[in-house]
Amino acid sequence: MHPLQPTVSSFRADLHCHSSFSDGSLNPKSLVNLALKEGLQGLCITDHDTLDAYQEAIPYAKEKGLILGTGVELSCDHKKKSVHILAYDFSLQNEALIQYCKRQQSKRIARNRQILEKLTRLQIIIKEEELMESHRDVSTLGRPHIAAIMLQKGYVQSIQEAFDRYIGDQKCCFVLGESFPVAEALRIIHEAGGKAFLAHPHLFASSAFIRELLQMGFDGIECFYGRFSYLQEKQWLKLAEEFKLLVSGGSDFHGDVKPKILLGCSFVDRARFDAIFTTNVV
Ligand code: AMP
Ligand code: FE
Ligand code: FE
Ligand code: ZN
Repeated sequence: MHPLQPTVSSFRADLHCHSSFSDGSLNPKSLVNLALKEGLQGLCITDHDTLDAYQEAIPYAKEKGLILGTGVELSCDHKKKSVHILAYDFSLQNEALIQYCKRQQSKRIARNRQILEKLTRLQIIIKEEELMESHRDVSTLGRPHIAAIMLQKGYVQSIQEAFDRYIGDQKCCFVLGESFPVAEALRIIHEAGGKAFLAHPHLFASSAFIRELLQMGFDGIECFYGRFSYLQEKQWLKLAEEFKLLVSGGSDFHGDVKPKILLGCSFVDRARFDAIFTTNVV
């Protein structure tokens, strides 16, 4: 059966979404509530470079009967290209992983400063303190938060316009910033008992680059994503088979930040969920 045509009772778990601790608009409890409303049985909150959502999400998911697996989306780079790694099924208590996230957040602060400097040169004036103050409860600050202030101050008419005209990849105010090499992130994830998946592979322009990455020690690849067509999914499933990799999938839901992407619009079934989450599930 086509994976996007589940029976009402079939198990569905969305393994890629963001809370307000990174760049999503919903807090962890609201995400759990929405997951249940959408009929999902399983969820993984994969905030960028922070595990903070889990403190709130774990007791609430337990109370509500939603299966929650541990997850995070780590920002890394390889050959000067940004690579996102989805880590799953690790221990939330692992000190090295916690420190990795903290160090990555410091690198992000430096990068945000550089982006704001570039914007200032174009008379788009946002102070670093303004960015921090308006997102006090956010653990991982990045481009979506800068875009939100640009919108709020009337410099753009939408978040999308901020990315399209100024801060999207390779646009005039884009800064790649410093992050950790893929190899280091893979080591940290594995030492924390987790599994590493290459996130949204379709965002890479070169298939040779994807193949090079997959040979570095990944456990899996994200094959179901957002509003992928069946043919797109098939392409990534084939690659997973070729490299003998596990398969993950999720919406990459961000709430209002990406309003067309709904929670649960991509998901994995029970067998795929169980292949990934063997230890750290609540
Ligand atoms: P950052 O981690 O600061 O580089 O920001 C990356 C996040 O910005 C992604 O996870 C998306 O949520 C968002 N984003 C990146 N590129 C775009 C784009 N072209 N349009 C809209 N949102 C984007
Ligand atoms: Fe994001
Ligand atoms: Fe990502
Ligand atoms: Zn994501």
